[in-house]
Amino acid sequence: MELDCLIAHGASANLHERLFTLCDSSQMHACQKCKNAANVIDGTVDGRRIRGPYCLVCKSVDDIVRLNVPYGAKLLCQELFSMGISLKFETRLCRVSTRTLFWERYRTLFCK
Ligand SMILES: [Zn+2]
Repeated sequence: MELDCLIAHGASANLHERLFTLCDSSQMHACQKCKNAANVIDGTVDGRRIRGPYCLVCKSVDDIVRLNVPYGAKLLCQELFSMGISLKFETRLCRVSTRTLFWERYRTLFCK
């Protein structure tokens, strides 16, 4: 019963807002082609002026997506990279709204 009330009142959305959006939300860029993190640069590469996210592996600005991540995850990625460990990011576009995901989850749990 209490679980139903929490879900109905948007507890998951509230937790997401308090623990991610209003706390330590951060953004980083990743290349969908090689799955490495992309750097934001402001300079000239191969005679081209680049200002923004750029994949140093593919030497391209194409196929780069922006990721919303907690700052702790971004910091961990950067610290691992400084030790020579590169993380791969599997990304896909999410066209489903949070509300739709909530109701699908709710139906799965409680509507049998
Ligand atoms: Zn790349």
